[in-house]
Amino acid sequence: MKSSNLGYPRIGENREWKKALEGYWAGKITEPEFLVQMEQIRLSHLQKQKDAGIDLIPVGDFTFYDHMLDLAMMFGFVPKRYEYEGGAVPLSTYFAMARGSDRAVACEMTKWFNTNYHYIVPELGDRKPTLTENKPLQAYREAKEKLGIDGKPVIVGPYTFLKLSKGFGPKELPALILQIVPLYIQVLQELTAEGVQWVQIDEPILVTSVTKDEMRTVLYIYKQLNEAVPKLRIMLQTYFDAVEHYEDVVNLPVAGVGLDFVHGLEGNLQAVKEHGFPTDKVLGAGVIDGRNIWRSDLSVKRELVETLKSIVPKESLWLQPSSSLLHVPVTVRYENELNPTVKEVLAFADEKIVEIVSLAENVVNGGEEPFAQSKTALARLNQSADRNRKEIQEAAAAFISQDVQRSSSFEQRQEIQKAWNLPPLPTTTIGSFPQTLEVRQARRKWRQGELTTEEYDQFIQKEIRKWIEIQEDIGLDVFVHGEFERTDMVEFFGEKLGGFAFTKNGWVQSYGSRCVKPPVIYGDVQFLQPMTVKESVFAQSLTNKPVKGMITGPVTILNWSFVRDDLPRSHVAFQIALALRNEVEALETAGIKMIQVDEPALREGLPMKKSAWDDYLQWAIKAFRVTTYSVADMTQIHTHMCYCEFHDFIGAIDQLDADVISIETSRSHGELVSAFHHNAYHKGIGLGVYDIHSPRVPSCEEIKEVIEHGLKALEKDQFWINPDCGLKTRGMKETVRSLANMVTATHIVRERL
Ligand code: GLN
Ligand code: ZN
Repeated sequence: MKSSNLGYPRIGENREWKKALEGYWAGKITEPEFLVQMEQIRLSHLQKQKDAGIDLIPVGDFTFYDHMLDLAMMFGFVPKRYEYEGGAVPLSTYFAMARGSDRAVACEMTKWFNTNYHYIVPELGDRKPTLTENKPLQAYREAKEKLGIDGKPVIVGPYTFLKLSKGFGPKELPALILQIVPLYIQVLQELTAEGVQWVQIDEPILVTSVTKDEMRTVLYIYKQLNEAVPKLRIMLQTYFDAVEHYEDVVNLPVAGVGLDFVHGLEGNLQAVKEHGFPTDKVLGAGVIDGRNIWRSDLSVKRELVETLKSIVPKESLWLQPSSSLLHVPVTVRYENELNPTVKEVLAFADEKIVEIVSLAENVVNGGEEPFAQSKTALARLNQSADRNRKEIQEAAAAFISQDVQRSSSFEQRQEIQKAWNLPPLPTTTIGSFPQTLEVRQARRKWRQGELTTEEYDQFIQKEIRKWIEIQEDIGLDVFVHGEFERTDMVEFFGEKLGGFAFTKNGWVQSYGSRCVKPPVIYGDVQFLQPMTVKESVFAQSLTNKPVKGMITGPVTILNWSFVRDDLPRSHVAFQIALALRNEVEALETAGIKMIQVDEPALREGLPMKKSAWDDYLQWAIKAFRVTTYSVADMTQIHTHMCYCEFHDFIGAIDQLDADVISIETSRSHGELVSAFHHNAYHKGIGLGVYDIHSPRVPSCEEIKEVIEHGLKALEKDQFWINPDCGLKTRGMKETVRSLANMVTATHIVRERL
């Protein structure tokens, strides 16, 4: 039985990768210096895997930005606007595609399947592909020459690559396949000539809802590859869920198939048991979770491996993580401030690699210790008070079979809420105002003890006061306090709730050099004391205009955290919802009667397979309702979501039963307005009227047009006017001018209503 890995995080133990990149972009290091630093990081990651004893070490998974961008570049898919002339793609062009330049906007970026990693979407329309370099070959050579590692080159497969690219219609797909397959063949032939044993070709698209027809195309592609390089052993790798067409996938003409036995456990295991596994192939068994941070109960994993071993001979079995380890932080080693009971049950990339090697060794030689150790460690946490808050568990579990609703229907509430006396097209913002250097410095000083809590609170109050005055001057209708006290919309709440832990260095790559450090939900989630009441009440005391209370919703907190895996996600969602309901009630009691519960991550929690959407939406929507249902009819519940693609989502939005929703739309206004056409939605809705991702100040005229356009699909008494999203990353001057233009534009439109 061999141990294998599918990919290793790029960022480094102390985010050296991010620092090198940002240093290079800022001109602090030269290109040669940058390349040297990157090589050091890359090699040290390979060395770590070698030292841990991994048999099949992935090479070529490292990147300067994103692996999909690397592939697009390798095939010469550089859009015309970057003025690329052919040949090797210069580093400046590579980064221009990733981040934009003075002359050309960046390529689009989007989520990699159901993860929080974002890839650069290749644009294929502009030119015919050619092979500009063979990156997997370079990586293979480097590992061999410098470290004596006989690596396993990794490359995203042709079908996944094409399905995730844009710039062509479905009719052009066959032609593109004909163009691109020969390039893959060339890459693979060069690898064969170099003496490569195994290559890992990633086709995660095969776990999505692909059709039988599409499977025929996949078969065609792999037949071509197999005929061209019959000696090279291809490990066709899938992850993130069970494959959609098991028999078709395992019978493709490849030497091995990698399946996810964590996130696709049920489907894949069932299929293996029912249909067996081809005797001439290697099974890459993804048994250690590549998406979560928990140490595995290795004795449970041993049972799984034993089951697989009864179907596939052990010589044909590789143990590996369920996916690339890109999605977990690097190492637990330096987390010395964590509660030891929590620390000992964490496993980041380095610890997961050790788990894989240990599992492979001990299943074969009958060792017992690692199995007992992991069991004991997990039992310690499971038996701790933090995981045994019975009242919370029972209250949360009760929502599984029970639904909740506000006491009156939306129509009844709408009548009652007329007492808010808002004008048609009410103007508001999404919550945060600019987090200036001053704000960030004050927070840092307070955290380091240079400011007392009292001084810090006073500073926050000063900011709130300033922005209440600004909102008065601009003439907005519904105010916010500005969220100056928050660094991050999930961390802020996690730090104030029971059951959350925070790591020092648990960073994962989100996109490019940007990393996030998700909170860890390890225990039962407990409301301890009001979290937002003080600031909201203070803000409301300064004005006669309504000030919206502002909290992050349960599903967003869940989806942007690492979540305990001993309970179903729905239970954890209900626990968070219950805690947040306490906050909503505390706000209401304190006189805050417009309350916004942000759910920007509701949509991104959707499972990979459409067939599983309903189940997710059912509990996710319920969690939102648990948070908000108990308020009085006059209390107006708002929510906010980022990003679009709402055409298949209006039903879900409706079921949230929020009185008002605001969504980010300015970049896709046409589509959105048409999605809301035909009276599909009756509740209050704010379609973002300008893009907050750029410092540009939108003109009054421009905003007016957007509002007029929105009015084609929406009624004047349901349509709210707001920017796309929070303004925390913007500067103060541009924010004030943009909002002033927004209010003026609204007044002009109101005149004619
Ligand atoms: N209320 C939050 C803010 O304005 C919403 C952020 C978000 O949608 N991601 O910052
Ligand atoms: Zn947003």
